[in-house]
Amino acid sequence: LIAFLLYLFYLVAPIGQLVEGAVQLQNGLAALKRIREIEDLPGEPDGQAVAVGQAGGDPVGLRFEDVVFRYGEDRAAVHDGVSFEVPPGGLTALVGPSGAGKSTVFALIERFYEHQEGLITVGGVDIRDWPLADLRAALGYVEQDAPVLAGTLRENLLFAAPEATEEDLRGALTRTRLDDLVARLPEGLETPVGHRGVLLSGGERQRVAIARALLRKPRLLLLDEATSQLDAVNELRLREVIAEVATETTVLVIAHRLSTVTNADRIVVMESGGVRAVGTHAELVGSDDLYRELAATQFLVS
Ligand code: ADP
Ligand code: MG
Repeated sequence: LIAFLLYLFYLVAPIGQLVEGAVQLQNGLAALKRIREIEDLPGEPDGQAVAVGQAGGDPVGLRFEDVVFRYGEDRAAVHDGVSFEVPPGGLTALVGPSGAGKSTVFALIERFYEHQEGLITVGGVDIRDWPLADLRAALGYVEQDAPVLAGTLRENLLFAAPEATEEDLRGALTRTRLDDLVARLPEGLETPVGHRGVLLSGGERQRVAIARALLRKPRLLLLDEATSQLDAVNELRLREVIAEVATETTVLVIAHRLSTVTNADRIVVMESGGVRAVGTHAELVGSDDLYRELAATQFLVS
């Protein structure tokens, strides 16, 4: 943690702009607090007989079986018997109105919180039996509006995967369609991206966050799509990137735009506490009222 703090200061210090620095620091401290909360979780598994391996392996699937979860004993269940399955590889989208519990699905998979009842498996293994560090190493997690820190583009890409090679980096940039951005930046990868005057667009920030996650070679990528509006070019790029990544690993995306889900292999429709329907876009448009309503709005705000 001390190293992490020092690194934060290292990122913040070169920036003369105090306001920006304060925001970065705040983001950093929030992340730190979250890490603390994670470390305080009880019931660290002993990890016996887990042969699931770490990052860099084959894509893994995911299963929720009658999962019940509440954020506090005195609170209503956010998940009240959630069941769905994601086979290894391909693209699965989670959709549903705001508050349906989509982001909570990710929080449980990452074990930021523990579910109270039911079973969650990753790679066929109960996540409580995965050693926590191995589980997290196998997962890529792109949070909604993932932060781009002050520092260079290279630092932003590599801070979670310091051992990645130059070739890995180039590969991730190509797959996320960021190579033309790098070509355009005055100092390429060494350009300070948080610095005033060299701002990234929302679409670029999102793809930087995806590239950052890909560099850790996840076996299951959890992508909570940003809700910011994208122009047509960026929306098309995002769709291409997600489709391409889904040919290499398992992708579970919390989709906030219709264009992301129309080509998904399967869509899981959530509604206050449970899964209401599963199918392809064509199937759901024909069979599910809520999905049809969501599709008509093209999503975004949720
Ligand atoms: P979605 O991503 O589908 O919009 P969430 O999973 O974020 O839904 O939230 C589901 C419900 O859980 C909401 O009522 C939300 O207010 C609540 N919630 C989300 N995160 C927390 C948290 N950290 N603590 C307490 N309640 C939370
Ligand atoms: Mg959410």
